[in-house]
Amino acid sequence: MTLHISTPFVQSQPNSRRLGKPVWLKMEAAQPSGSFKLRGVGALCEARHAAGVQRFVASSGGNAGLAAAYCGRELGVPVVVVVPESTPSRARDLIRLEGSELIVRGGTWAEAHEFALSLIGPRDAFVHPFDDPLIWQGHATLVDEIAASGPKPGAIVLAVGGGGLLCGVLEGLQRNGWSDVPVIAVETDGADCYARSVAEGRPVELAQITSVATSLGARRPCDGALRWAQRHEIHSVVVSDKQAVEAAIRLLDEHRVLVEPACGAALAALDCDTPVLQAASSIAVVVCGGATVTAQQLLDFAARLD
Ligand SMILES: *Cc1c(COP(=O)(O)O)cnc(C)c1O
Repeated sequence: MTLHISTPFVQSQPNSRRLGKPVWLKMEAAQPSGSFKLRGVGALCEARHAAGVQRFVASSGGNAGLAAAYCGRELGVPVVVVVPESTPSRARDLIRLEGSELIVRGGTWAEAHEFALSLIGPRDAFVHPFDDPLIWQGHATLVDEIAASGPKPGAIVLAVGGGGLLCGVLEGLQRNGWSDVPVIAVETDGADCYARSVAEGRPVELAQITSVATSLGARRPCDGALRWAQRHEIHSVVVSDKQAVEAAIRLLDEHRVLVEPACGAALAALDCDTPVLQAASSIAVVVCGGATVTAQQLLDFAARLD
């Protein structure tokens, strides 16, 4: 038994028709915590629990904390989640609902992260939202499931924040013998630290995050994600907030699934005329999910961005 569940991998008729080729959706929004984060965080929490830790301490913009809170409740381990003031109230409420202690500290994730690190005692385990090999191993299970369910996709599309999902998917592609599948790494304008870092060939730290896709709001990508750029065919795509929000609303209308703008970004990349997507015979999109938004907020974002 794992803490995450095996999620549906469904062909999207509307997207397939628009692109003229099969488009498949890996429905991570169906995870009990609302996002793929549960795969990596679950793997980490299980390993640390088996090693006898007494408490999980997490820093998070929302979904990683929610996953840690879920794991703590399932495993009977107390959890402290530190979030910045930018974390939406809905995310804070959901974390408290799982029975975790919630601390709001700092204006950005980096400040919340610093504070969370200062809390770590000898019997605590730290749960990083994206930069930990155990987290990547856990995320890689989503590729194992795609591989078990059918043929190799022609390309795989995913959103990038700190790069944990990217590292996990690449590990999954590698361990399934799919190292020739190109990956489209999507960010929003204002949270595009990965695209900039790859373009400049060194880690670029953004001065601030200006995108509404708060779950993509790491100011710099993890080193692991940058190392992959040298070993695998990865194409960066940057979409606008408006495109990301509209793609999230369209998913809700077409597939009855609510996701954050961070996830909408990956879906929006399907509409960009990217040569690698035009060349691909089929496409798999990681519908990474996100529990911190409501349908009304998506509509409000869309109205504001118009
Ligand atoms: C965390 C998160 C991301 C970004 O994942 P990274 O591992 O930080 O790159 C994207 N979408 C959602 C919904 C998330 O929760």
